[in-house]
Amino acid sequence: MNQSLWNQVLERFCEFGSEPGVLERDGILDLLKGAVLDGRKDGYSLLVGSTFIQRLVQSRYYNDLLTAFREVTHDPELSFDVLVQPENLPRKRRKTRQNSAPEVTTGSGKSVPIPLGDDHAVSWNHNLNLRYCFDNYVVGVCNQFAHAAAFAIANNPSKAYNPFYVFGSVGLGKTHLVSAIGNCMIHLYPSLKVLYITTESFLNEMVSAIKFNKMNEFRERYRKIDVLIMDDVQFLSGKERTQEELFYTFNALYENGKQIILSSDCMPNDIPTLEGRLKSRFGWGLIADIQIPDFETKVEILKGKMAQEKVDLPMDVVYFLANSIKSNIRELEGAMIRLGAYGNLMGKPITIEVARNLLSDLMPLSRESISVDRILQEVAEYFKVLPKEIRSKKRHKTLVTARHVAVYLIRELTQKSYPEIGRELGGRDHSTAIYSFKMVEEKLESDPALSSDLVYLKKKLEQQG
Ligand code: ADP
Ligand code: MG
Repeated sequence: MNQSLWNQVLERFCEFGSEPGVLERDGILDLLKGAVLDGRKDGYSLLVGSTFIQRLVQSRYYNDLLTAFREVTHDPELSFDVLVQPENLPRKRRKTRQNSAPEVTTGSGKSVPIPLGDDHAVSWNHNLNLRYCFDNYVVGVCNQFAHAAAFAIANNPSKAYNPFYVFGSVGLGKTHLVSAIGNCMIHLYPSLKVLYITTESFLNEMVSAIKFNKMNEFRERYRKIDVLIMDDVQFLSGKERTQEELFYTFNALYENGKQIILSSDCMPNDIPTLEGRLKSRFGWGLIADIQIPDFETKVEILKGKMAQEKVDLPMDVVYFLANSIKSNIRELEGAMIRLGAYGNLMGKPITIEVARNLLSDLMPLSRESISVDRILQEVAEYFKVLPKEIRSKKRHKTLVTARHVAVYLIRELTQKSYPEIGRELGGRDHSTAIYSFKMVEEKLESDPALSSDLVYLKKKLEQQG
């Protein structure tokens, strides 16, 4: 009775799935199908399989589930608790999980259970950075597919893609994503032997095993793993012996239905001097890429990191950073931390000017590709005036605002100095340009309309270069 009610709730819940969340919801859905609904009208309890799922539901899905629940029961007052099935609470977990060993699909298409780890699993060193999890991974268009696949693999290895190969440029979140898979897995299946290793460490371990005549132990260790996460496999390039060793490890794991997760900065085929047999194996499962994040995603990531690092920057500085640092989230994060530290140490508020000075080394040269003409054109169009009017001496209100905004944007989006900006704008003095810039900077704090004008214009200019 309750179970059919729960199924109806889930059906309704699925219908809420709006764009970016849809695939992720598929992952959570499998977890929720296994939940048991207990109690009745005056107090339901949803019993889920693990504390991980409990937290996931509480932090992300509770409101939607509650809405679905209330709609299905036509009871606007209804509420429910999310509890962990008692037999699955940490102490007893191993016993109950025997029935639900995750499975992976092997090359032959057969699903085989991943053998659960033995007692040593408790002390197994997974080597994962615990800070990298799904909860603090911001999903945008740039990484939506990779994230959905990663989330599905982490939650439900039985339907997994094997191997999972994720690639993207430096600093775009590969290590974070593959680590999140591992962290999620060790929560869901605590005795799985998950191992995160960089390609470099794999190589070093192998070299030292050869040196000390311990190759058997080395191989043994890798054959015992249930989930191998190998980061930055592009470093296999030119390392013949390591490639050979990895080939055997790969085969042994794959044949035994173990999950393999790889990251790289390029497609398998583009790794120079990678053996053909590894190239093809790396592509046997699913390949997903991570692209450069868009402006909104960068802002969301910054907000998350600021909360995590307890750094408080004004929003215009956040926008400035997201705009200036094009393609490396690690740099974006580094800039934010540097500014936060500067603010703390100097006891000064962080303005865009301060940010610009502190971060001049991070500013990409590509800024030059946005020309003054283009900026004037966009600003003119936006304010419904002509570029030549912005350059003129006319002083009616809209023109003055457009001129200030133009100065501000030229300063932000190009490398022009104030005297140059003055000259570009109809031969004005550099102090006029400085004044305009300061006016906008000051007004930004108190004028949300102006701030959204600027965000819009900047984005438009950025996108078209
Ligand atoms: P890569 O391995 O691709 O070089 P990392 O995974 O080390 O990149 O990411 C660099 C930094 O950016 C890390 O601190 C990571 O947490 C952060 N980061 C990258 N992508 C995201 C994201 N989508 N959401 C939150 N943080 C991210
Ligand atoms: Mg990395």
